[in-house]
Amino acid sequence: MSEFTFTHQKHYINGRPHRSGSETFTTYNPSTGTPIAQVYTATPEDIDLAISTSLSAFKTWSKTPPIERSRILLRAVALLRSRNDLIAKVETLDTGKAFFETSTVDVATGADVLEYMAGLGMAMGEGKTIQLRESAWVYTRKEPLGVCVGIGAWNYPIQIALWKCAPALAAGNTFIFKPSEVTPLSAYILAQILTEAGLPPGVFNLVHGLGSVGAVLCADPRVAKVSFTGQPSTGIAVYTAAAKTLKLVTLELGGKSPFIVLPDADLDAAVDACVTANFASSGQVCTNGTRVFVHADIFDRFERLLVHKVKTGVRAGDPMDRDVNFGPVVSKQHYEKVLNYIRHGINEDKATLLLGGVEKPSSLRAPFTSGYYITPTVFTDCNDTMRIVREEIFGPVACLLRFSSVEEAIARANDTELGLAAGVFTRDLNMAHKVMAEVHAGICWINTWGESPAQMPVGGWGYSGVGFENGAEALRQFVKNKSVLVENGEVVPAFAKL
Ligand code: NDP
Repeated sequence: MSEFTFTHQKHYINGRPHRSGSETFTTYNPSTGTPIAQVYTATPEDIDLAISTSLSAFKTWSKTPPIERSRILLRAVALLRSRNDLIAKVETLDTGKAFFETSTVDVATGADVLEYMAGLGMAMGEGKTIQLRESAWVYTRKEPLGVCVGIGAWNYPIQIALWKCAPALAAGNTFIFKPSEVTPLSAYILAQILTEAGLPPGVFNLVHGLGSVGAVLCADPRVAKVSFTGQPSTGIAVYTAAAKTLKLVTLELGGKSPFIVLPDADLDAAVDACVTANFASSGQVCTNGTRVFVHADIFDRFERLLVHKVKTGVRAGDPMDRDVNFGPVVSKQHYEKVLNYIRHGINEDKATLLLGGVEKPSSLRAPFTSGYYITPTVFTDCNDTMRIVREEIFGPVACLLRFSSVEEAIARANDTELGLAAGVFTRDLNMAHKVMAEVHAGICWINTWGESPAQMPVGGWGYSGVGFENGAEALRQFVKNKSVLVENGEVVPAFAKL
C-alpha cells in the first residue's frame, strides 16, 4: 500500500469492501473546497448485514483467548505506526488539519490506545473469588457485551475510531463504526489494517452515511452498546434511542472549558499553552480552553504576549506543507457557523476584537484562498453573558476574561452546563490542587493543556458526556459482570431459612 486513491468509497463488512445501494455523498478537501471522493450511503440492508455479521462473529471472537486477541491487535498497532505518514496525509486531505499535526498526533495517539487496550485485554480473564463459608464461594466473570457501535465526530476521525474500537475489541466484543459523513476516509484504511493484522471477518465493520445511519444503529435491539462522540444535542438523541432497548452508552460531547491563569504563573508557558488550547486543529478540539480567565494584575501583559505568539507562531497555508501548522476548518457549513459567531461577537456581543476577525489569513495563496480558513481570532475583555463566551464555537476563537480573585475565577469557570475540561496555571501547587478540587470538569490540567495519553481516563461532566474513554476503566465499560455462587456442601433447603 504505497498511496491511497479514492473514487467511490465502500463500506467494509465481513472482512471485505461492500455496497448494495447506489446513493452516494461527497467528501471535500476543506483546504481548497474541491471534492475528493464519492462515498456510498449505507442502505437498511447494509446496516442489517453489518449487525448480523457482527453478531455471528461475536460467537467466536468472544471465546478467543484474550492473549490471542491482543496479539492480533498489537500487529495492527505496528501496521498503523509503519503507515503513519500515509494515513496522516489522508487525514489532512479529509479534515484540512495540518500534516504537522496529523503526522504527530492523530495516528500516534490512536495507535497508543490500541496498544494499551491490547495489553490490558490480556488480563481480561481476571475476576474475584469471595469465600462465603467453608463449602461455598462466589466467583465473578467479566464477559464481553456483544455488538458495540461507535459513532464518530469529524475532528479526530482515526483517533476517535481507535479510541472506541480498541477497548471494545480487546474485551472480546465485535464492533461497527460509523464515521462522520464529513471525514469518512481514514476509517476504511483502519478496517483494511485490522484485516491484514489477522482480525477475523465480521469483528470490525464499517458503514458510511449521514446521521440517519447512526440513528438506525442506536435503535437496533441487537446492539448492546453505543459509544458516541459529537454535539450534546446529538448525544441526547443517541441516549434517548439507546434507552429504549436499555443499551449501555458512552457519550463524549462538547465543551467550553475554562483556562485559568493566576498572577504568579509562568506567563510564557501559559501563553504557549493558550495558543495550543485555542488554535491547534484550527480550534476544533472538544477540550479547548476557550474561556481564558486571566488575573487583572497580569491581564495586559498576557494580552500582549498572546498577540505576539499568535502572530509569530501560527502559520496558515497548504496543510500538507510541513512548515504550516494551521489549516482550514472542516467544511463550508462549519466555516459559515464559526464566521457567524465571530460576527455575533463583534456586532451583538460588542466584544473587543484583539486579533483576527472575518477575513481569511493574508498568507494564503491560490488554490488555498478558496479553502475554509479562518484567521485566529481573540476577543478581549469579554463578559460571562456573551454568546461567544457561553456557547461552543468549535473554531479558532479565544475569549479573554479578567478576574480579581481565585474564588471569583472558580465560580465563573463553573457557570456552565458543560463540564469537559479545565486547567490552571500557577507556581503555587497547593493553590493549583485547591482549584482542581473545585472545578466542575472531568479532564483537568495543571500548568499544561491538552495532553490526553492512553493511560488517562477522559470524559466530560454535565452536558459534556456520560462515561469515559481510555485508562483501565474504559475497558471495564465494555464488559459485563457475572457472579457465580458455588455450593460445594449440602444444599440448604430454601424453606429451612424462613
Ligand atoms: P454531531 O453531533 O453533529 O455528529 C456526530 C456523529 O453523529 C456524526 O457521525 C453524525 O453523522 C452522527 N449523527 C447525527 N445525528 C445522529 C443521530 N440522530 N443518531 C446517531 N448518530 C447521529 O457532531 P460533529 O460531527 O459536529 O462533531 C463536533 C462535536 O463533537 C463538538 O461538539 C465537539 O465538542 C464534540 N467532540 C467531543 C469530543 C469529546 O471527547 N468530548 C471529542 C471530539 C468532538 P453525520 O456526520 O452524518 O452528521
